[in-house]
Order: sequence, then structure tokens, then C-alpha cells
Amino acid sequence: ELDLDELDPEVATEIRAELHRQQSTLEMIASENFAPVGVLQAQGSVLTNKYAEGYPGRRYYGGCEHVDVIEALAIERVKALFGAEHANVQPHSGAQANAAAMAAVLQPGDTIMGLDLAHGGHLTHGMRINFSGRLYHVVAYQVDRESGRVDMAEVERLALETRPKLIIAGWSAYPRQLDFAEFRRIADLVGAKLMVDMAHFAGLVAAGLHPSPVPYADLVTTTTHKTLGGPRGGVVLCTKELAKKVDSTVFPGQQGGPLQHVIAAKAVAFKVAATEEFRERQQRVLEGARILAERLSRPDCAAAGVKVLSGGTDVHLVLVDLVESELDGQQAEDRLHRIGITVNRNAVPFDPRPPMVTSGLRIGTPALATRGFTAADFTEVADVIAAALQPSYDETDLAARVSLLAKKHPLYSHL
Ligand code: PLP
Repeated sequence: ELDLDELDPEVATEIRAELHRQQSTLEMIASENFAPVGVLQAQGSVLTNKYAEGYPGRRYYGGCEHVDVIEALAIERVKALFGAEHANVQPHSGAQANAAAMAAVLQPGDTIMGLDLAHGGHLTHGMRINFSGRLYHVVAYQVDRESGRVDMAEVERLALETRPKLIIAGWSAYPRQLDFAEFRRIADLVGAKLMVDMAHFAGLVAAGLHPSPVPYADLVTTTTHKTLGGPRGGVVLCTKELAKKVDSTVFPGQQGGPLQHVIAAKAVAFKVAATEEFRERQQRVLEGARILAERLSRPDCAAAGVKVLSGGTDVHLVLVDLVESELDGQQAEDRLHRIGITVNRNAVPFDPRPPMVTSGLRIGTPALATRGFTAADFTEVADVIAAALQPSYDETDLAARVSLLAKKHPLYSHL
């Protein structure tokens, strides 16, 4: 019964170093967050030992009496959180949730429509070498060059022309809300099913700070680790009509034994997401993103060729457009990394630079809001980022300001 330090000091050392990295730097990757200690405990529990193929009350293994209770809790909590008729909490990840949801309503060769990866869509929405692009015939819609927003007239035109079986609304890098009612209208016009992938904004929906796709979509998928702030994993929500189909495409369609330790952690995260404290945190997420968009639109940023895509944000992230900056996405990401801010470079729509370099940054506020950042802290971090993207800047000074902010908001102090 050795503990990790004794059993495997190499791995233990790196985990400790990663904890220190998370504590001492500012995490602004839009898809990341800090799970509560309770979520970490559930995920690191003895539930990892348990096989439980099947669903609560209908398992292919004995000894499932406790995991049954836990999975049923997770299902009931997420249904209540989002007002969904049915939930499957077993997908190991967002990609697997999407694969299962799509398989529930599609046959290989069917046509799907999703947001172009280069315009903010996700790999699983039809990228060429992803399962979605290999199994299905993909028609991609894009954002409008001028406004940076999804052009619903173009979505309608493409849908009428190509008659997709499934329309996917959702994104990984898009700073605005989508019009779910309009997507529903267009789907009905062509007899398509509508799937909304709310992985990025699910936490905002849970807090009532973003329109819910649930009343409009046949299928809603999400990850549980982004704005929702839980363990890494996926969920499919759907209508009663699709419930059986979805349950069978998740298991045995896509997966074998469910990760019961992760399902327990999901249950904990759904409980947290229903609290007033969570709602207040999501308000700071949105406020932080708005402050960031505002400060990165300053005249000195414009003069340095730094712009905010679509001119602002309605969500938890800002997309910085560096097309006219002397810095490319890679250089900007590296600069911020050197002063202790972690972001990811991201292609902007119609990006002239190659995908490994890009002309953009995706900057998100969920993790810092979880750390307790206030409007004043977000203003300071926005000013640090704005300064770092200028042609000349003082790296030592900016790194010191980042370090002060990190110290002001301790993270995982008891780990
Ligand atoms: N859907 C969207 C919109 C995403 O942004 C992501 C993750 O980046 C996924 C699905 C996939 O989630 P996972 O990384 O858990 O497979």
C-alpha cells in the first residue's frame, strides 16, 4: 500500500510541478478551469476500480449498487440543471459525446452541416480526418468576413441547397451567442435534426447567463470541464424520443465500461453548478471577458495591429486578431507564456498565416474567475496583456505584475 511518492517518485514530482505551475501562473486557456477539490477527490477515488457496463439498474456486472446511486444522481442533477428530458453522463469526452449523438440520428454517408474549423468550429463538427469528416458528408458554414458573426442567411441558403440530415450549432472559438431559434427554424425547413454542442458555454447556460439551447435542439452535447468546471468528460442531453437511441450509441455503440470515478465527479460538479456561488462566478467570467475585450480595443492596441474579433464578446472568451500585427499567434502566445500567462494561439477566420502559426489568440476568463478574480483584477491582467502585445514592452515588469495577481488569489492551498 505505497503512496505515490514511494511508488513512483518521477510521476509524483511532475504532478507537484504541475500544481506549482497552475498556482504560480495565470491560466487563460478558454477551455480550461480549476475543478473543486471535491471533484478531484471523487475522480481520484476507488470508483476507478469498478466495471459497470450498462446503465443504473441494468448492468452487466455485479456489485454496482453504489455506482448506480451515483450515476442516477449525476443524471438527475444534470437534467434539472439544464431542464433536459434525458441525459447520458457516460461519454468519456466531448468528442465521444458528439460521436454518440451523431450516430443516434445519422447513417454513414449522410450530410451534416457545422461551423468551419477555421472559423471557430470543433474538429468533431466535420473536420476532414476526424471521425465526423470521414463518416459523414460535410458542408461547412462560415462567419461573415465583415462582422465576424455566423451569417444565418448563409446557413439557410446552404441548408436549402444541400439538405443536411443534421445541423450542428456550437463552437470552440467564437465570441458571440448563436441564435438557436433561427437554427431550429432552418433545421425544420429542411427536415434536419438540430444538435447544439454547448461544450464551451455550458457553465454560462447553467447559470442562466446565456440562452439555453435545450428547448430548441434535438440533441445537446457538452464537456464537463470547461466553463462547467468539473472533471474532464462529456454528456449528451436529448429529447425523450431520442433517449433509447442515444443510450445505445454511447454504450455499446461507442464505449465499453463507463468511468464511474469521473461520473461521480460529474455529479459533484452538477451540484456545484446549481449554486448561487457558481452563478456569481459565471458573472465574473462574463465581466472579465468584457473588460478584456474593452482593454484590447484601446488605441495603442489598434496602433500595434491588435484587434478584437467581432469587436467584443458575449461569452467567456475574446479572440484577438493579429492579422495586421507584426506578432503572429505563435509569437504572441510565447510572449505571454514568458510573463506567466497561458493562452493558446488560434486561427482567425480567413487567416493568412499557416495553422501551426496562426494570426490570433484565444483568451478566456473561466479559470481566473474560479480563482476569485474581480473586475479590478481582470482590468490589471487585461492591461498586462495589452502591454505585452506592443512592439516594445518590459518583460520583467509584466512578469512581476502577473506574479502579484497569482499570489493575491491562492489556488489549491491545501493540496
Ligand atoms: N466540442 C467542443 C465545442 C469543444 O470545444 C471541444 C473541446 O475542445 C470538444 C467538443 C471536445 O471535447 P474533448 O476534448 O473532451 O473531446
